[in-house]
Amino acid sequence: MSLEAGEEILEKRRELGMLEVALQLSRSEDSSRPHLRPSKESIQVDPDLVDQMNEILDNSTASDIERRKNRKEGELSQLFEDVDVEEDELEYSSRRNVDISRNEIERGSGVIPQVADIVEGDNGLKQSWGQAETFDEVKDDFIQMIEEYREFSGGNYDEVLALWEPNIDSTEIEEIVEGVKQGAMPILEDLDIEDVRNHWEQNVDWLETDTELHEVFENTLASQELLAHYIFGGNPVKMPVRIGSSGMEYGNSIMAPLETVEDRFWLKCFDTTAHEFGHTYLRQELSEENTFLPLGEPPSEAVDEGVARLYQNFVFRSKPFQKHFSKTVTQDVGLDKRDPEEYGEAFFNWFNAINPENTERISADPITYPLHVAIRYELEKELIESDEPAEDIVDDLGNMWNEKFREYIAEPLGAEIEDMPDSETVLQDVHWGKGKMGYFPNYLVGDVLASGWRNAISEQEDDGLDSKLQEGNVSPVNDFIAEEISQYGKDFLQKSDYWEIDPENYVQFMQELSQEIYGQK
Ligand SMILES: [Zn+2]
Repeated sequence: MSLEAGEEILEKRRELGMLEVALQLSRSEDSSRPHLRPSKESIQVDPDLVDQMNEILDNSTASDIERRKNRKEGELSQLFEDVDVEEDELEYSSRRNVDISRNEIERGSGVIPQVADIVEGDNGLKQSWGQAETFDEVKDDFIQMIEEYREFSGGNYDEVLALWEPNIDSTEIEEIVEGVKQGAMPILEDLDIEDVRNHWEQNVDWLETDTELHEVFENTLASQELLAHYIFGGNPVKMPVRIGSSGMEYGNSIMAPLETVEDRFWLKCFDTTAHEFGHTYLRQELSEENTFLPLGEPPSEAVDEGVARLYQNFVFRSKPFQKHFSKTVTQDVGLDKRDPEEYGEAFFNWFNAINPENTERISADPITYPLHVAIRYELEKELIESDEPAEDIVDDLGNMWNEKFREYIAEPLGAEIEDMPDSETVLQDVHWGKGKMGYFPNYLVGDVLASGWRNAISEQEDDGLDSKLQEGNVSPVNDFIAEEISQYGKDFLQKSDYWEIDPENYVQFMQELSQEIYGQK
């Protein structure tokens, strides 16, 4: 009986896993992104699974799938109550799949249902957030959302964090945020604002204003192959690579398209693609026999973002890789009016130097980036944990944002800024509008994890990682992801030696970067 009970649970969990991926894909299609269907040629999993997935997508809307998924979750939860699984009799992977599934069901994950009701739908918060020009337009729904999260968590931010990343509590997050803040702010203080401004204007501005460059890349960007080939030249990309109109969506090992944003500057598109490649590669190497089961799913949100940031920050944006990339890409499209080195310098600076006018998280350089995350983390923690009525804090949120921005970024840098409008503060990111409270810290944890992994990979290479990157060879990174992360799926935390989150690794990286860009003080 116990073995059968285990099988029954796994079967239901597999159906649930598939519905989860189908839901993500269906939502992408609903938001008029290109259709991101699995294709049998581009992936290496059971073709029957591809058929089953497409069958779901052809015959149901996102809300149908969501209903099915909720029903399935209910059934699984019931099953855990009804059946007795003698876990010792199960072989290791089944036992872990059952264990992790039980924990997931008990804890719940993602946007809580009470909040999903507020954010989804035609008049939902997600929709209005995207269109709002002032925070007032969405405030009432937002307050209601905060009240739901307060009730759900009993005013404990840890409970909200755990919806996305159950493996870290707020004490650890606090240490990471503080560690990185205490590393980043002194770097900004040491810089001279005029140097920073001049550096940006001299090294980067010409890139953005060069119309020839713009035309060449705007056109060639339409080529999916170009993105895949130039960024990861010579490395196989098994996943379909696609360019979408906005944002990025991905499913799991079956489906992980790379999307970039068409109305963004062309270098940003390459950058986004590098980030999405990380999410993709992690999925590409997941265990096939555990497809749609915990051991065949990405380990956790923070690890997922960590892998994406590893490729983005530490591979793609690195100087050795940028030198290779800029040379290859400009030669191939016939751009020769400048020295290839000059393109390399400019590309590298566009990704890494500080633009003193920037107020956006997603456009931020690696030194101010964690400070943008810190602002959001501290505000959402306050929203959940404060004794004051949600309404009062929400009313003051724009001011609090401006104050923190000044304190962490503008003042250390010596920049004087006016109060920013809601569109640059509270409304800047879509996460809160989508109901995703507690998600932001994952970006920072991901960065810190990635900086540690980068050091580990470098140590494993005889002559360091840089010598490989300058030839455009990212296989040491790919191998590390496959062997140390993907193969474990959600068992990563149990099995891997690389769940070490030391903010010092990231601080060191920022210091080196500042040194590389601005030189000795
Ligand atoms: Zn990401």
